[in-house]
Amino acid sequence: MIVAALFKKNLFLQILLLLHVVNNLILLTLPLTKYFSFEFASVNGFFLVIYVGLFTLHEDKFKSSALAVKVFQIKLLLFVGIFLMIPVLLAFIFHLIRSDCSFLDGFKFYAVLTFPAVIIGYALGLLSDFINKKYAYLLFILLLMLIAAIPVIEIFFRPQIYFYNPLIPFFPGTMYDEDIDVTFALALYRFFNLLFFGGIIYLIRKQQVKELKISKSIFYFVIILVAGSFIYFTPTFGFSSTKTSLQKILQKKIETENFIIYLPNRVSKKEEVYIRQLHEFYYERLTSFFKEKPDAKITSFVFATAVEKRKYFGAGNADVAKPWLNQIYLSLDTYEQSVNHELAHIFAGKWSNNILRIDANFNPATVEGIASAADPVYDELDIHYLAFLASQNNLGVSIQNLFSGFSFFSNVSSLSYIYSGSFCKYLMDEYGAEKFRNYYRKGDFEKSFDQPLTAAITRYHKFIKSKNFSNEMHTANYYFGRQPLVQKVCPRYLANKTNAIYKLIDEKNYASARNEILSIKDYCKNYSLLNGLIYCAEAENPGSAETLLTNNLLNYKNTPYYYLLQLKLEDEKILSEKYSEAKSILDSLLVWHPAERLAARVHLRKIFLEKNENARLFLNGEEIDRFTLLVNEFKLNPSVVLLLPLIDYVEEEKYSYTSFKNLIDEVTPNAINEDWYSVLQLVRFTIKNNDFVAAEKFMKLLENTIPNFASESLQNEKDKLAWFIKHEEKK
Ligand SMILES: [Zn+2]
Repeated sequence: MIVAALFKKNLFLQILLLLHVVNNLILLTLPLTKYFSFEFASVNGFFLVIYVGLFTLHEDKFKSSALAVKVFQIKLLLFVGIFLMIPVLLAFIFHLIRSDCSFLDGFKFYAVLTFPAVIIGYALGLLSDFINKKYAYLLFILLLMLIAAIPVIEIFFRPQIYFYNPLIPFFPGTMYDEDIDVTFALALYRFFNLLFFGGIIYLIRKQQVKELKISKSIFYFVIILVAGSFIYFTPTFGFSSTKTSLQKILQKKIETENFIIYLPNRVSKKEEVYIRQLHEFYYERLTSFFKEKPDAKITSFVFATAVEKRKYFGAGNADVAKPWLNQIYLSLDTYEQSVNHELAHIFAGKWSNNILRIDANFNPATVEGIASAADPVYDELDIHYLAFLASQNNLGVSIQNLFSGFSFFSNVSSLSYIYSGSFCKYLMDEYGAEKFRNYYRKGDFEKSFDQPLTAAITRYHKFIKSKNFSNEMHTANYYFGRQPLVQKVCPRYLANKTNAIYKLIDEKNYASARNEILSIKDYCKNYSLLNGLIYCAEAENPGSAETLLTNNLLNYKNTPYYYLLQLKLEDEKILSEKYSEAKSILDSLLVWHPAERLAARVHLRKIFLEKNENARLFLNGEEIDRFTLLVNEFKLNPSVVLLLPLIDYVEEEKYSYTSFKNLIDEVTPNAINEDWYSVLQLVRFTIKNNDFVAAEKFMKLLENTIPNFASESLQNEKDKLAWFIKHEEKK
């Protein structure tokens, strides 16, 4: 009844209420916000700041009496109660209809992201009115814009892509990292928000009822001082990153001709030299690709791990460049694959004349396309080949939409990268860097290439056809296959839960891990969960892992997991001594040949299966037995696939490079055509270890085995070897 009275005859509030309901109905149908989870709570918090602010401006009258303030606060409480209830109620109805993920899990986000918005909105409403009654609404909008500008400035000037802000409490940087939780930092940040905005409310109310008498200018001075020093100290709390705060993590600074590189202290001298040289090598290669080079030294931050990069920069799984700052952000486990691509963004920035140093249309297809064209491989394969495979298997992406619209983020991300990269590489090779530069700078395709986009696309498709690649359905499945059934569990909830489960498995707490997995709906259709369950089965009851695999294989047909699970099943067969069944799975995998890295593992098992018990020993023996097995087998049958696991032993410093070198000097390695992937890894490994004699030997093997659809990888390693020999550092 009281509630109805609040809204009765108050058109303004009725409109707010309607907006709030409609807004939530829309949110509950959009991809990211449709679950009662992180995004839903964030967006509702943002709107609540506005609604509560407007409510305060509209309803808060007769402020000078303490009683009037009390009356207003009761009304506010009612208003807020309803506005906080509506999203929860609507989300609950949608949750029941869809019968999706755990609803309770969403409340932690709602509590931290949405609730505090009430105090912020209330404070901003009061403050606007306090500054100037006449222009209060305008001031309210200006204050909102001012607060929203802070992260824009932070991301622009500082080395970070995440942000903390009173309006959108936390933006994680990229959407590629699915596990977002209420962290201590986030809770602390919201606590500071409450202190600050609560303080503003307290001071203004005290002023209004004349319990406190300070001049307005002192009041503003205090607010600005507190807010200013908070922003200054944000890096200390981890709410923001600066160059100085990153240098505390990445303490090693090396300066080369074209770079300033920051590395974590634990990097060995040897790897430090390699990182430096790899940067310089790609710099030279990109200079000849772009026919131009950046004006200033490029700063490169190489984080120790993806976890650290995510914490201090904002993205864990993805490496990133900021062309306008001349900075790239990598991590130790990925820099070899990504440094070329990220540097390409910086070089392309030289072509641009806008403030962000990206293409004139701000189109991600062009920005990512040219970087992928400069580094035209995807898991060692030519991107032209993968674009061909995708089109042949009806997974093609419209290039028209990529370049004339903004469909880059609406496709599967790997396909967007492959297609824009393949098309841009074609344009560069066919029409030259000068024309592409013109397009990047001015944004007019037709003027730059003397033909409409559609004509260029037709020519491009003809060009791909002329390459005479053959269609490999299993490779297409491996790279682009997706499961048709969408998980009925919220992505954030599932990702957090999966993390927790793997932590239990790490702690060998298999019983709890298994119970957690079984409690999740459709766990069998999620590869990570099924894999977790297999781990548990292997530890507790080895025989049951095989049944688990056999029963669930078909759920994964036409996806990469199908092949990975087949290999896993084969391993289980070996462990239970069903050798002929294991062999027949390996034979199928050899025929399907979905991916090169898998082929290496298949071939390795084939070799060991020649003496059945060796295969078993290799899979479940102690590390030292596995090592002896590899070395002894190599002396009898010097296949390169036996060397591949040894690379890890050297990198983990369990085996010296000198011993590795002695081994390949003693027996000459050989390779069949299917082994080219292993040979490529060995070329890279020997270059990294400055062993150019061995690298040249492997290079000869590589030239004999590599197929035409990996021509770019071959060229890259050839150029690299030549460059490293030329720039060898004399000790
Ligand atoms: Zn990129």
